[in-house]
Amino acid sequence: VLTRTNRVQAKYGGRFMVTMLPGDGIGPELMGHVKEVFRYAGVPVDFEEVHLESSQEDMKHVHKAITSIQRNGVALKGNIETRTNCPNFKSRNVELRLQLGLFANVLHCQSQPGVRTRHRDIDIVLIRQNTEGEYSCLEHENVKGVVESLKIITREKSEQIARYAFDYAQQHNRKKVTAVHKANIMKLTDGLFLQCCKEVAAEYSDIQFDNMIIDNCSMQLVANPHQFDVLLLPNLYGNILNNIACGLVGGPGLTSGRNYGNEYALFETGTRNTGKSIAGKNIANPIAMLNAGVDLLKHLGLTTHSKVISAAVDKTLNVDQIHTPDLGGQATTTDVMQNIIKEVVANTQL
Ligand code: ADP
Ligand code: MG
Repeated sequence: VLTRTNRVQAKYGGRFMVTMLPGDGIGPELMGHVKEVFRYAGVPVDFEEVHLESSQEDMKHVHKAITSIQRNGVALKGNIETRTNCPNFKSRNVELRLQLGLFANVLHCQSQPGVRTRHRDIDIVLIRQNTEGEYSCLEHENVKGVVESLKIITREKSEQIARYAFDYAQQHNRKKVTAVHKANIMKLTDGLFLQCCKEVAAEYSDIQFDNMIIDNCSMQLVANPHQFDVLLLPNLYGNILNNIACGLVGGPGLTSGRNYGNEYALFETGTRNTGKSIAGKNIANPIAMLNAGVDLLKHLGLTTHSKVISAAVDKTLNVDQIHTPDLGGQATTTDVMQNIIKEVVANTQL
């Protein structure tokens, strides 16, 4: 398993069918931008939209989304808000990942020459176990005032994600994998994760392997990020370091995130924000979701289309430097989109 799942993609009349989950906040507007760019680039993809929002109490729509992704094999997703004050309200985002077996979350965080940040030339891949650990959704209150949350770590899933990370490193010419953990305190759970990483590492003599405790790794990542190549992460630490790494290269508006299982693939933004506070203001940065769209096209084998769109994004971001406020700019979402579309049209032979 790598960037490709074992499944044959749904294709009708020469066109691909992809599930689209717009989500909450800025999700729906970002999806509108992806659809628009795809249309100008002549991308042969049709979207089957399923609306999953935090306002829906029942699981009916979640099942509909899962069935749709099982049928189409691939999805593009906005984030769904998870209410923090309802103990019985399960995160739809987590539910989808669990039910579809999307065990690997992959982020490629790269500095952009046109975006001012503290560090230059960062190029880190973060590979996160996406379906167990602290996200097992097993929390309960046994006695009033005493709650428990079960963190599940299995040998099977730990070996699987470790192998995924080393295969990725090998196939992408990466030199080093660093496993991140807190095995000094969580001796059994993180201890098992680390042990599995070490065992798998021994099978890949051409890739360097080391490990680092999560607290030190957080500090090293902001102070000296150039030492890292591929980070191999359990679920919750992965979530946190993903956000740090995205922040280092320009924030929530740039980097996409990919989720893979043995059968399905789901593409979304790297930091999985809803951006509720900026919805409808024409200031959201559309680039992270457009990059998710590019990932989707690569996954479908639509290489030419993916290149045209990623070149248009790159030119707008790094050469023309049309930046929304999250990047310190003054451009609106429309300004960014118009420039990207102009580039796409100029480079698309119809
Ligand atoms: P909220 O839902 O309150 O807006 P989130 O946790 O969803 O917050 O997002 C974290 C921060 O990142 C917020 O300040 C949000 O505005 C910002 N953000 C998320 N996505 C984008 C984007 N695509 N463009 C610009 N800012 C974004
Ligand atoms: Mg939010």
